[in-house]
Amino acid sequence: MKKLSLTDEILLSVEKPARYVGSEYNMTEKNVEGVDIRFALCFPDVYEIGMSHLGLQILYNFLNLREDTYAERVFSPWVDLEKILREKNIPLFALDSQDDIKHFDFLGFTLQYEMSYTNILNVLELSHVPIYAKDRNESHPIVCAGGPCAYNPEPLADFIDFFYIGEGEESLNDILDMYKEHKKAGGSRETFLEKLLDFEGIYVPRFYDVAYKEDGTIQSFTPNNPKAKEKIKKRVVMDVNKLPYPEKPIVPSIQTIHDRVVLELFRGCIRGCRFCQAGMIYRPVREKDLGQLKEQAKTLIRNTGHDEISLVSLSSSDYTGLKDLAYYLIDELEEEGVNVSLPSLRIDDFSLDVMSKVQDVRKSSLTFAPEAGTQRLRDVINKGITEEDIIKGSSEAFNGGWNRVKLYFMLGLPTETMEDVDGIAKLGQDIVEEYYKMPKEKRHQKVQVILSTSFFVPKPFTPFQWSPQDSYDSFMEKQRSLNRKINKKNIKYNSHDAKLSTLEGVIARGDRRVGNLIFESFKQGSKFDSWSEHFNYSKWEKAYELAGIDPNFYTTRTREKDEIFPWDFIDTEVKKDFLYREFERAIECKITPNCRTGCANCGLKELGGGVCYEN
Ligand code: SF4
Repeated sequence: MKKLSLTDEILLSVEKPARYVGSEYNMTEKNVEGVDIRFALCFPDVYEIGMSHLGLQILYNFLNLREDTYAERVFSPWVDLEKILREKNIPLFALDSQDDIKHFDFLGFTLQYEMSYTNILNVLELSHVPIYAKDRNESHPIVCAGGPCAYNPEPLADFIDFFYIGEGEESLNDILDMYKEHKKAGGSRETFLEKLLDFEGIYVPRFYDVAYKEDGTIQSFTPNNPKAKEKIKKRVVMDVNKLPYPEKPIVPSIQTIHDRVVLELFRGCIRGCRFCQAGMIYRPVREKDLGQLKEQAKTLIRNTGHDEISLVSLSSSDYTGLKDLAYYLIDELEEEGVNVSLPSLRIDDFSLDVMSKVQDVRKSSLTFAPEAGTQRLRDVINKGITEEDIIKGSSEAFNGGWNRVKLYFMLGLPTETMEDVDGIAKLGQDIVEEYYKMPKEKRHQKVQVILSTSFFVPKPFTPFQWSPQDSYDSFMEKQRSLNRKINKKNIKYNSHDAKLSTLEGVIARGDRRVGNLIFESFKQGSKFDSWSEHFNYSKWEKAYELAGIDPNFYTTRTREKDEIFPWDFIDTEVKKDFLYREFERAIECKITPNCRTGCANCGLKELGGGVCYEN
């Protein structure tokens, strides 16, 4: 039996000890003496969240296909264990081998949301690895990061040795080959980081300097090493069918957020919603082969024993083979008691038919994400969904036996007026009325309409990267006004405080100086900021003061067209001119067709594949 890092006494004293012991079904085991590279993959949140993340399973599988590399998992310890680790001076360890992370070659973080950044600093400190990159030496792991938030790496620039921009499968192998040779030859950490400058998609912050103007905006962002590239191009895998897929994913030994296997239908999104960062940075759409997906589905179920399979992609209903795949999965897997889960479908006859086959209609609810309450504002954000789609979809769903409808909206979208805010309440009421248009004998239960709002945070690499964010007071005023307007008889309203979104806005479009804010807040004790029970805004207020950061500079300020953004040196292939054009079209309420209806020339054609060359 493998020796555990924690004693039984410690494990029995913390909540959910299974979070820390590893040895789950399908975990990769390797002889640590027999590998050249040890890679700790960290999802900076608790086990149950990290284990539900497909990207982590993809990378874990991908790296472990190399015989010379052992990739292992690290998660943030929950606060009860953290206290013990600190008291007893026990360093944080990887789940798979239970070895201390401080002896690994690499510690790689996946950056999925900005509010996990204090957890990253916490993981470094708990691992006994210096928080600041400049303080690390040859005895420490090389700390790297990737994922969607790496597209604005600057707030973490002082803490991370290098960032990987884009899809890991494209060149991680080449980097590890180089590292292996470098290590064998006794090369130093510094020279390894310099050698990384030969690779596309790699950003090493120490080789770049930033200068600021008097008004606080960026004057210049310049390489300080002759080999450092002016622009860092994202890495994209064009033939996604050739990629290895984790067909034997680790089966968690405790319940996670999503207890199921997942099938990735495609990468990218054709839609072009103007608020959505993922829709822009993951372009272009590259679909996976239908036959391969059918095989993968069966293999995944066979290899894990899970009784649910979920189809994941940014907008699954855009998969061209969806009908075929959905009916195949229902026919093949339902008999074996496997549930097929189809998130984010557009409501039409097909999706209602599929959903009625895979869901218990009486218990489940239908979900729409109109995002905005009026057609005008939905056109501003280029959300290709009309009032008619929603009302007709709801009506069809009610006639099909559903009586619960959930709708998601954002408050604070660019150009929003109080009329748009009121439109959310009106849309909810229109849906309720649609239910009562049905004959009485078809109305078996009370209708339930659930409206949820979040607050809009402008993100880098979207047309709204130039937009001011609403102030905290404006967010809350809109929320209160909406709350008053909603008819609570048949409508439930889910809302929350805007402080977290305000802070997210600072970090999302933050520059290098925001690193001080994150550090100071961490020193005040901030962690698990995305958990409402742990988020403490007063610690961040103190940190603003200590770091000398004015949040309004990053949030409510209007940005000029030619302002140099902290993330401008990253080249996603989607041109800044295109984004600005889209920003202008948004203000003019002009919609832009999706990639399959008409190419808007965003710049991705240069990559030579995917949806850009479908016709
Ligand atoms: S080049 Fe055209 S088809 Fe390709 S991703 Fe951009 S808008 Fe879509």
